[in-house]
Amino acid sequence: MAVFNPRFKAKELAAERTHKIVRRPQGPNGEALTIPEYFGIHVFDIEKSDMIPAAAKEQLAQVRATENMHLSKELADIVAKAVTEWATRRGATHFCHWFQPLTGATAEKHDAFLDFDKNKQPIMKLSASQLMQGEPDASSFPHGGRRSTFEARGYTAWDMSSPLFLVETGSGLTLSIPTAFFSYTAEAMDVKTPLLRSISALSKHATEFLNLIGDKDVVHVNTTCGAEQEYFLVDKAFYYSRPDLVMTGRMLFGKKTSRNQQLSDHYFGTIPERVEAFMQELEVELYKLGIPAKTRHNEVAPGQFELAPIFSDANVAADQNQLVMSTMKKVALRHDFVALLHEKPFPGINGSGKHLNWSMSDSQGNNLLNPGDNPHQNHRFLATLAIVCEAVHRHAKLLRTSISDAGNDHRLGAHEAPPSIISVFLGDTLNGIFESIREGATFVPSDQQHLDIGTRQLVQLLKDNTDRNRTSPFAFTGNKFEFRACGSSKSVGLPLSMLNAAVADIFEQSNQLIADDLKAGKSVAEALTDLTRHWINSSKEVVFNGDGYSSEWVQTAEKRGLPNLKTTPDALQVLTDAKITSHLVRLGIYTEKEVEARFNVLTERYNSLRHIEAGSLTDLVRQHVLPSAFSYKQELVTLVQTQKEIGTEGTEKEHLVALSQSINNLSKELKALEELAAKYEALPEVEASMKLAHEVLPKMEQVADYCNELEQVIPDHLWTLPTAYDMLFVR
Ligand code: ADP
Ligand code: MG
Repeated sequence: MAVFNPRFKAKELAAERTHKIVRRPQGPNGEALTIPEYFGIHVFDIEKSDMIPAAAKEQLAQVRATENMHLSKELADIVAKAVTEWATRRGATHFCHWFQPLTGATAEKHDAFLDFDKNKQPIMKLSASQLMQGEPDASSFPHGGRRSTFEARGYTAWDMSSPLFLVETGSGLTLSIPTAFFSYTAEAMDVKTPLLRSISALSKHATEFLNLIGDKDVVHVNTTCGAEQEYFLVDKAFYYSRPDLVMTGRMLFGKKTSRNQQLSDHYFGTIPERVEAFMQELEVELYKLGIPAKTRHNEVAPGQFELAPIFSDANVAADQNQLVMSTMKKVALRHDFVALLHEKPFPGINGSGKHLNWSMSDSQGNNLLNPGDNPHQNHRFLATLAIVCEAVHRHAKLLRTSISDAGNDHRLGAHEAPPSIISVFLGDTLNGIFESIREGATFVPSDQQHLDIGTRQLVQLLKDNTDRNRTSPFAFTGNKFEFRACGSSKSVGLPLSMLNAAVADIFEQSNQLIADDLKAGKSVAEALTDLTRHWINSSKEVVFNGDGYSSEWVQTAEKRGLPNLKTTPDALQVLTDAKITSHLVRLGIYTEKEVEARFNVLTERYNSLRHIEAGSLTDLVRQHVLPSAFSYKQELVTLVQTQKEIGTEGTEKEHLVALSQSINNLSKELKALEELAAKYEALPEVEASMKLAHEVLPKMEQVADYCNELEQVIPDHLWTLPTAYDMLFVR
């Protein structure tokens, strides 16, 4: 009956593939280069450029470090000339302003270096103004009702705190200039601008705090970030035969394989050779871009992997994470893989997250969240920790909003990722210290500093202060916090800006409290202990050290009064509450209009994604699931008839009846879905988003259940869509 089943061809291709030999960067004599020998060769380092005079370098550093000090055209011209020489010598033909509009992706518009001199001779040139400013036609970028299309002006401005870099694609090189993107009326239309503002705000208030408590030499505080990236790899041949993956990034339905992640045999298992070759090539590309990829391993779900870099300044880390994602996609294709960054590509198994490791570091390079050897006596550390707890407590809703997205809705609270309830994990030691501060008692550290593993052969290990808690959305992990509920496909810029804003807000308030205490004659240690006690008391409810995946926690959290915003539209509503967002405006991180724009853009985006999903689902059912089901039905009908004729009837008819029932159920549900989706298409955006989340999505899930029911019974040779089994196990 099946004439040609494209799925079989895909399976054949995938099963036959072998790993690619990765070419490592080589020296002039063909010798393999070590990583330091090629690390950052695609990054323009102003400090190392011999075309920029020392005085100019100094001025540039000053401009970068000083607020409201502007880059002169003369200085920009020096950099432009140097970078043009550097880039074109390496073979770059084009440059682009690289920015991050509210689509969450990156955008770029390329221009050739080609120009003509006075004598009409071709030259390679990037002018000072081309380096500093661009003017992409902004009308097609989301702006959240901030501009009408006839006022399409948008500007990009060079971000001097993130390095210029070369992107290698096909056979060419393009110089990318990291930029911020804003409107004619100077409203930020991107992810980067508010992030930069939040970094400054946090720096300002944290520096003031440190100065107040006696660390007078501190002149600024950096936000540090390391973004761990999870992803799936599927063979390219399957990907293109699964239109839902192509259109929506996820399988809209699919029967679970009988073995998936129960045996935990994939997590940290041996990396398949074809995958490792991909990882090696990816790392080479990242190292060239100066991105310090550090860790690679198999993740929990079959076909799932992770990459973690060494942390850096948050702005650079955010840019680099965008590059990690785009480079991953590009390199995967060279290995006949497609890298899936969606938060939930496969139903029934773990999805992907992005762990945002976050801390602060003062201008002397000291990590503010480093507990030191005696955390209980480290007043500065304890106060900072308490400030972060209060920040998360007070601004939990906005933190939740900052990670909301259609894709992440499938993960949060689904027993694989931390729930939509934002809580803080501190671990036993710190909890104990906080407890004793609260009660005014003396904390006695436990003296078991070494792990007793019961053998003589092994090296002795120091015991960590805390065990790990994988179920907490916001966990203290030794000397940093790990915001674990971020979506794998999203920029870290938005959650970072919200987190910085929250912490800056509490630092600002703390500074007042400390100043008052000091004025009243208290010592710094006393003032810090007072402050710590103050915040740990007010943030008590947000601290939770138990199992965040359990259903009891949902109830307990409700009793504690912690918000539980389950879906993206619920979470986005937060942005319409001026009381909740007022600190963003006060700290100069988002204007009211910018908050409103984000609400509009993110709502619109949610609606579009869900509509695309509903459309893709109905297409798939009509073009694949029902035709396969009808073919099978035809086979059964013929079988039942002949059995009857020759008198050998068995249970075939029961199968036929059950199949017919499933087909009818699916058809009915499909019709209902189409009607519902059409009905809500015309609604105003906000209303539509609620309906999509609370009515259309559940209806889609019902349709998916009927599809799975059919996939379960339809013979393999009649099933035309690649299955979860194909995609997760055949490589
Ligand atoms: P874990 O095993 O707890 O996840 P790792 O040491 O593997 O911890 O670090 C995970 C990520 O956290 C890495 O990207 C790492 O560079 C980053 N990280 C470590 N220290 C800091 C810090 N002070 N600030 C921000 N990120 C950090
Ligand atoms: Mg981690």
